Amino acid sequence: MPGKNLSREEARERAGIIGVERYRVHLDVTSAPDPEKSTFLSTTEIAFRSSAPGGATFLDLLAPSVRSVTLNGRELDPAQVFDGTRVRLDGLAERNELTVVADCAYSRTGEGLHRFVDPVDGETYLYTHYEPADARRVFANFEQPDLKARYVFTVTAPASWDVYNNAVHTAVEADGSARTWTFAETQPISTYLTAVVAGPYHVVRDHYSRELPDGTVLEIPLAATCRRSLAPYFDADEILTVTKQGLDFFHDEFDYPYPFGKYDQCFVPEYNIGAMENPGCVTFREEFVFRSKVTDAAYEGRANVILHEMAHMWFGDLVTMKWWDDLWLKESFADFMGSFSQVEATRYRSAWITFANQRKAWAYRQDQFPTTHPITADIRDLEDAKLNFDGITYAKGASVLKQLVAYVGRDAFFEGARRYFKKHAFGNTVLDDLLDVLEETSGRDLKTWAAAWLQTSGVNSLTPQLLTDGEGRITELAILQDGGEPRPHRVAIGLYDRAADGALVRSDRIELDVTGARTVVAEAAGRPRPALVLVNDDDLTYCKIRFDEVSLATLREGLGDIADPLARALAWSAVWNLTRDALMPARDYIGLVLRFAGQESDIGVLQSLHRQAKGALDVYAAPEWRAEGGRLLAQSAVTELRAAEPGSDHQLAWARFLAQTAQGAEQLQLLRGLLEGTARIDGLDIDQELRWSLWLALAAAGDASGEELAAELERDNTASGRRQQTQCLAALPTPGAKAAAWSSVVDSDELPNALVEAQIAGFAQPDQRELTAGYAEPYFAMLEDIWAQRSIEIAMRIVGGFFPRFQTTPETLAATDAWLTGHEGAAPALRRLVLECRDDLARALAAQAADR
Ligand SMILES: [Zn+2]
Repeated sequence: MPGKNLSREEARERAGIIGVERYRVHLDVTSAPDPEKSTFLSTTEIAFRSSAPGGATFLDLLAPSVRSVTLNGRELDPAQVFDGTRVRLDGLAERNELTVVADCAYSRTGEGLHRFVDPVDGETYLYTHYEPADARRVFANFEQPDLKARYVFTVTAPASWDVYNNAVHTAVEADGSARTWTFAETQPISTYLTAVVAGPYHVVRDHYSRELPDGTVLEIPLAATCRRSLAPYFDADEILTVTKQGLDFFHDEFDYPYPFGKYDQCFVPEYNIGAMENPGCVTFREEFVFRSKVTDAAYEGRANVILHEMAHMWFGDLVTMKWWDDLWLKESFADFMGSFSQVEATRYRSAWITFANQRKAWAYRQDQFPTTHPITADIRDLEDAKLNFDGITYAKGASVLKQLVAYVGRDAFFEGARRYFKKHAFGNTVLDDLLDVLEETSGRDLKTWAAAWLQTSGVNSLTPQLLTDGEGRITELAILQDGGEPRPHRVAIGLYDRAADGALVRSDRIELDVTGARTVVAEAAGRPRPALVLVNDDDLTYCKIRFDEVSLATLREGLGDIADPLARALAWSAVWNLTRDALMPARDYIGLVLRFAGQESDIGVLQSLHRQAKGALDVYAAPEWRAEGGRLLAQSAVTELRAAEPGSDHQLAWARFLAQTAQGAEQLQLLRGLLEGTARIDGLDIDQELRWSLWLALAAAGDASGEELAAELERDNTASGRRQQTQCLAALPTPGAKAAAWSSVVDSDELPNALVEAQIAGFAQPDQRELTAGYAEPYFAMLEDIWAQRSIEIAMRIVGGFFPRFQTTPETLAATDAWLTGHEGAAPALRRLVLECRDDLARALAAQAADR
């Protein structure tokens, strides 16, 4: 359906002749609890102007059927004007009144109006998710971010439900078994930011108030919701504490009162992403409601998301990008502000360590794909837009903003933001609008900075080069920059030496601008040669950190001795990049983890090390060493688990790592013993989520039966339990299990998004290479059909998830290349995904060669 993929050109033309004043949207979702009913009634009235009277335009609408279209009192024949994706409108007047009545479909993919039935109590829950362009699955509209309008929503829902929207409700009228909720008119917002959440949600209410500089008091009603069956686990106090800390911080810094009235935060089931910044009605994935013990890294991660979404109320909702090319204008800022506010305003003071270690790893990976792009991207259409919610737009953009703050200073940065909000409130912007205010406040030329950082792609490597004299003194320290066009970097160079207690501590810090291919650090001359030179200490810039040989030798024998946790995290990140670049053998990286992970104090860093060590083993280690490496990792997991402080986060992290690495009869026996209560680790609570991790390990090893997994589901017959049991069944090492998992996703579109994800995750087990080798060929054969037939959200998961990434052989690479060569005309977004999988595979083959 060509009309589905709106192009930038079409959007530009439409915005050229249309201005939207108001939408009145009525949704009747009383059919939702009936599984036989697949649609709901959607009525949209739109008041809009046209600067080209007599001309034509179109509405966006993805709906099974349209009942009527009335333009300025004129009945249009739906069969004539509606093609399944658009409603054609001819003969426009200067002022237009349009009414569209349609039957729209409940979603199972998380796009549009998602419907979910709770297995615990049979209750039905609804919520919407639209970005970038799925409001058109729920009501007819002009779906592009620069056609902002005011909205009035009314929703008719079962009488026992509550309904949430961007605005407060002004009336609730009962009518038999239903109630109709009427909401206040919203501020001018984009279509993708409207929201409806409906169902018997559990709610916790609170309140935030603040005196504004003019003496008036701003009152913000707060609410936090989740499904009723999750209520016992809902720590709304902690969520609302972070919320208030964030509201304090953003009011202090942005000097623009929160413009959307109330602030609801709804935790919703089967959510595709982390969260969405709908003004006044933020939606979050409900996995943030923790059913079992999680580490503090999980709380930190959730707080980061809460603050990220809150930052969007200003960056994104109040001021919105004109088109998706400038998606970074909101995402990079929200990502940056999330960590910034977390460190300044909450108890999560190590957010920059997490940022350096995890967000940047995402950016570095994405930025080395052949498909990478400048932060300000070229987004031709909606499929392009969908794929650009990536490591560049979020994490690299945020890293570059961190660099910008180092460049212009904190005060100029925030003063620029304040002017930007006042000048563009409720409007749409492009890059220059932001640069203009920042140039005003900083007095610096930012066009050059933007050209170097926002309009180029790729990551530079910074390598120290040391010359010393006979007495071990530095005669010259230079920083070499390579990897694409050199950029101006504001960096700190850390010089580290051994202290008396053996710790590696910073003896000197030199901050300077690195520009061009080689920059001499004049200040370093004459100092004693340090044990370790850490370029980009304090993580000011965005680059890959490299080492000179002496420094690398220091890390090999003492990475874990670096006393400062941020510097240590940077060192870990750097050796991971060396491994990915085939410059350090995977077994050496794993060796560092074996030696030093046990003394890593930062729980988030430790959990990253676990993920990366497992990843290095599965795809970067030479196949002939894999068994040995796996044995070593599993053994260290057992040792560290037994040594960890009882009840600590570290103990839990090592228990999970053991579940991922366990092998051999003795360890599997230990897992089973923990499940059955015959084995105990002092202080380790084998709660429900941990139980499923243990079952997954047993299932993948062929040491769990279908009956046992059914019994576990009986014990935990919840949404989470169903997902995890599905994953365990798909992980069983039998041809039948693999065929069933594959077929349930590829041959049918009945499964909801969450179970598609579970089937794929279970299917793809690293130690089942022979069992799944035969699926490479059908994978390539199905790609174009899947792309054409499925929603983009599901298609992306299938394309990325079923790629034969554990078949790390030249043959798989050749098959991938053959597909790419033979499908030049395939959808660009599909080709982009396959190209990225290919790049990962090529990287794995190079790393394996380096590991031999
Ligand atoms: Zn965001």
